[in-house]
Amino acid sequence: MGHDYLRVFKELNIEDVKKHLIIWGDLTSDCASCRKLGINAFSATHCPECGIEFKYVTSRRLDQHPGERFHLVRRMHEKRPDLLFIDYTDYTKLLGQKQARDFFG
Ligand SMILES: [Zn+2]
Repeated sequence: MGHDYLRVFKELNIEDVKKHLIIWGDLTSDCASCRKLGINAFSATHCPECGIEFKYVTSRRLDQHPGERFHLVRRMHEKRPDLLFIDYTDYTKLLGQKQARDFFG
């Protein structure tokens, strides 16, 4: 039986997400926490630079290639079923709101 991928909403703390997020790029991926570049998202369980554990993954490609969205999510999930896929637009929007709140206090 095949599996399908549906977007769901889950209550998460944006700071916690950022601390455990890998941003999956076209060639390599980077750690959202320390900005270390060149990580392999298919194999790295922890950041080689700052040592945090990856629990979440996101990719700009979901927005850039909306037609491939589910294909991309499936590809990552097959390699890394331990990671929860986060919507990139949601992530950047919420992070921006949080940074504005912190700045204006
Ligand atoms: Zn890091």
